[in-house]
Amino acid sequence: MSVRWGLIGASTIARQFMINAIRAQDGAEISVVMSSSPERATAYARENGIPSAVSTLDVLLKSGIDAVYISTTNELHLEQALAAIRAGKHVLCEKPLALTSADARTMVAAAKAAGVVLGTNHHLRNAGAHRAMREAIAAGRIGRPIAARVFHSVYLPENLQGWRITRPEAGGGVVLDITVHDADTLRFVLGDDPVEVSAFTQSAGMAGGGLEDGAMCIWRFQSGVIAQSHEGFTTRFAGTGFEVHGSEGSLVARDVMTQQPVGSVLLRTAKGEEELSFDREDLYVRSLRQFHGAIRGDGQPAATGEDGIWSLASAEAALQSASAGKAIKIDPKLGSMN
Ligand code: NDP
Repeated sequence: MSVRWGLIGASTIARQFMINAIRAQDGAEISVVMSSSPERATAYARENGIPSAVSTLDVLLKSGIDAVYISTTNELHLEQALAAIRAGKHVLCEKPLALTSADARTMVAAAKAAGVVLGTNHHLRNAGAHRAMREAIAAGRIGRPIAARVFHSVYLPENLQGWRITRPEAGGGVVLDITVHDADTLRFVLGDDPVEVSAFTQSAGMAGGGLEDGAMCIWRFQSGVIAQSHEGFTTRFAGTGFEVHGSEGSLVARDVMTQQPVGSVLLRTAKGEEELSFDREDLYVRSLRQFHGAIRGDGQPAATGEDGIWSLASAEAALQSASAGKAIKIDPKLGSMN
């Protein structure tokens, strides 16, 4: 099966990971890239060996492509995804799917009605480490899960210190950037959905415009599991990790909240400690393989549109909690809050 892709957005993430991940699939080719600037589109196409460069969505959607990958700034995802869906294209969209979970629900409903595949690019579900943790929990190796902790506070690289820390209207801020990933990874690893969140956010000196550059969240899950997550742009030396503690054991993963297939997962029980082995495949290559499978009618994207609604509803609830100073419920029926 051949799949011709169009890139919506001349972005860093496409250049660093997604162009390679698309080209790693049998039968996949990148036909065209769209940037709002014709000069940037042309330069990006030349630098990345893409045959065609365009500067309007209309031209891109009429260029004979089958699927689009959307990695523009967050406020543009909704309109671009809806246009692509209307044109009958499959859509792999970056997180957050939109600026509100209501808009994300509109996208999911539109894709369903049009019969096209919609995926959310939550790469961490594709990490061998997280899949090994999910399997260990599902197999009962830590007994009944009780609590989880996610350490995902990083230092935002200088080349990305742009709209994320200056433009609220573009969906900047650490919660829409990283908390969405943590909510999704918690859901995936635990096989559970969050029902409530309480969050504190901070502006620790990097973000302006009233945006937060640090957040700590406490989550309650349907099963009764409670979890902490810490997201940040300003900590250079924190390292990342993910722990799940159960009645019969603990999973302690280090260096796993990352774009690379690295890190370690330790299982600690009454029998002692065991280092879990897991595959080290590129996260984005696996994401694309699942997406191509879904286009062929074989399975679903690694993270579906519904998963994107969940992660956005969770992040939205965290932001609301931080501003209201109280815990906020996350409605399990596809993410609407009360
Ligand atoms: P970038 O800032 O690199 O790109 C976003 C947009 O900014 C581009 O579409 C482009 O607009 C514009 N832009 C890029 N470079 C320049 C420049 N030099 N001058 C002017 N404008 C420029 O963003 P990211 O790649 O970091 O993020 C894009 C999306 O991907 C976001 O939704 C983000 O949340 C998501 N993301 C997801 C990750 C994941 O692992 N799942 C990791 C990183 C980001 P135009 O297209 O009009 O040229």
